[in-house]
Amino acid sequence: MEILHVSAECYPVAKAGGLGDVVGALPKYQNQLGHLAKVVMPMYRTKFLYQNQFDVVHKGSLYLGNAWFEYTIIKEKTNLLGFDLYLVDIYGLLDREKVYGYDDDTERFTAFQIAVVDWLAQWQHRPNVVHVHDHQAGLIPFMMQNCYRYRHLAGIPTVLTIHNAQYQGWMGWDKSYYLPEYDAWQWGKLDWANNINPLASAVKCALKVTTVSQSYLEEMRTNANGLENLFEYEKGKCTGILNGIDAAVWDPAVDTYLTENFSLENAAEGKAANKKILCDEFNLDITRPLFIFIGRLVHEKAADLLPRAIYDAVYHMEGRMNFLILGSGDPVVEQELADLNEPLVGYYNSKIGYNEKLSHQMYAGADFLLMPSRVEPCGLNQMYAMRYGTIPIVRNTGGLKDTVIDIGEPGGYGIKFNDAKVWDITYSIHRAVDLYEQTKKMQSIRTKIMQLDNSWETSTKHYTDLYLSLQ
Ligand code: ADP
Repeated sequence: MEILHVSAECYPVAKAGGLGDVVGALPKYQNQLGHLAKVVMPMYRTKFLYQNQFDVVHKGSLYLGNAWFEYTIIKEKTNLLGFDLYLVDIYGLLDREKVYGYDDDTERFTAFQIAVVDWLAQWQHRPNVVHVHDHQAGLIPFMMQNCYRYRHLAGIPTVLTIHNAQYQGWMGWDKSYYLPEYDAWQWGKLDWANNINPLASAVKCALKVTTVSQSYLEEMRTNANGLENLFEYEKGKCTGILNGIDAAVWDPAVDTYLTENFSLENAAEGKAANKKILCDEFNLDITRPLFIFIGRLVHEKAADLLPRAIYDAVYHMEGRMNFLILGSGDPVVEQELADLNEPLVGYYNSKIGYNEKLSHQMYAGADFLLMPSRVEPCGLNQMYAMRYGTIPIVRNTGGLKDTVIDIGEPGGYGIKFNDAKVWDITYSIHRAVDLYEQTKKMQSIRTKIMQLDNSWETSTKHYTDLYLSLQ
């Protein structure tokens, strides 16, 4: 089958979070199964663009409302990523360093989507599936079905994967003229709560909707940032397919970001060598258990609870542990975390910012990973951590619920808690410190988690079945 993925992120071209990891891996595994999976995404000005070679495959010009724009589609020459990668260049809109966070994101991603549909309309053949990811590609199913110019695309099956339903791409109806002329009777397929809502539109128009874990799908019927009723109503077309991890990239034995590679056979020494690197760099004590947090410092991740939880844990447990935090996001949380460096010197350190290399080093060198998320559609960090022998401490929600079993349960290998509250986090840290002191148990859990199969193979087969049901 030929599958066209449309996404705002794709690792290693541009990544802001888990979406990038998924779109960088899933198509590769689909191709290994014999499909022809392709990715189209915006051409940002990231390193990848300058370090690789591209061919121009298509040029076109369109209107975004009254504004005329030209777009160019380029294709990476060598199949470097294991799939055909197409980038959409739109001068003045997509040619930025960052993926998101600009005042004109609505215009940027709307123009991107119109360009993708316009390019697709010129193909001499049709793909079997157009697979759109999150709200930045959410208007595509509507446009393929209802814009007069593109109606010949209406028969192509569309699938939406929701990686995060908190962000929906809302825009006022005053911007509806941005879209190519469409059948106005169908306006309800764009609308949610008197706004154009690209994510809601994709849920309504795509033939199938997937979320990145079964538990997240169930939770969305009661907690989906305003879309709860929509998910309840559309539950018949929704399924949960757990993300995998790219086991070729995330392998401590060959990870090029690590200087001290290790595998199951020498995990104890390998992890100790990596922990030493971290402890030397961040002034921490190698004899104490090392707890890490890596991620966006936002409300969803409950990052706001970390400063208090860390402070309380260090004081109430008399400094029996160390913490290292890597992340960026809410400036208030960033400041609070930076402010802890001084009072907790020797017990805590933080690095504010995005740092891929350090994140790998941390997964490799830590003993425990904290993920107190309020909302977690799937979560990749806990899976990466486990592959690198780091025990996850997670809130019992979404994908975390589906991928971690508490040590108190049969076959358990992680620590789980129910409430996104400081007290629940510190209590779990306490449990982890106790576990750390039982060397044999720690070792057997480490051996177990490093061998868990969270690879893409299984998930890829579920996607294939889903596509087949649409042919
Ligand atoms: P989300 O997509 O909600 O941010 P996921 O757990 O699905 O969360 O994926 C997060 C990905 O982003 C992981 O690969 C994680 O290592 C990476 N990541 C997040 N923040 C940082 C950071 N500050 N530096 C390096 N990598 C980060």
